[in-house]
Amino acid sequence: MSSNPLQGAQFVLAAHRISQLPADQGAEVAFAGRSNAGKSSALNALTGHRGLARTSKTPGRTQQMVAFSLPPLAQGDDLPPLDVRLIDLPGYGYAKVPVDLREHWKKEIDAYLHQRRSLRGVVLIADIRHPLKEFDRMMLDFCFATALPCHLLLTKADKLSRNQAIQAMAAMRREFDAAERQATVQVFSSSAPTGVDEARAKVIELLRRPREG
Ligand code: GDP
Repeated sequence: MSSNPLQGAQFVLAAHRISQLPADQGAEVAFAGRSNAGKSSALNALTGHRGLARTSKTPGRTQQMVAFSLPPLAQGDDLPPLDVRLIDLPGYGYAKVPVDLREHWKKEIDAYLHQRRSLRGVVLIADIRHPLKEFDRMMLDFCFATALPCHLLLTKADKLSRNQAIQAMAAMRREFDAAERQATVQVFSSSAPTGVDEARAKVIELLRRPREG
């Protein structure tokens, strides 16, 4: 068996509505981030598949939800392996996306986070060099409103010194603590690479965790 349980990820389908996603069973983790944050690169690094999610694609390509299947995940004991997926959510947090399309995705993502029973958590990807933007804050709010675990990857850490990266992470942790928000945060870089094992372990932990509520 592969030492990376996320290896072997395969494209299943691209959806414009949550009703088009694969059957709502098993467990999945969703990836969200503004365009250009580094989400595709993170998905590629985590799955060990360089071409899985296309990096630096044309703006239109980001405007779908994309489902990737993973090999069944062992659960231990006498439980059967779990049917698992990753869902790449559209990142629309920049000006080129028309307002009506942005509104469409805001509603779809909100509905997805509320209704999707197999969803176990969200990995939010943000550029470590910039403060969180409106899209990121909306995702965090959605997660807290639905009691979904959120794991924040502060990516492109290779653009900062190690010390600066740690300080950025500490500042984010303080902010979450002050707001009593249960999000977790780590330093990440697809290029270095940095934090890939930690992020992978978190995704697997989320996939194995039962949904609360
Ligand atoms: P997405 O739009 O969020 O899927 O972002 P991409 O993964 O396509 O990355 C956007 C740009 O940032 C591309 O030019 C990537 O090469 C670059 N990028 C992504 N991750 C990293 C990283 O960890 N470090 C650096 N230096 N560049 C990155």
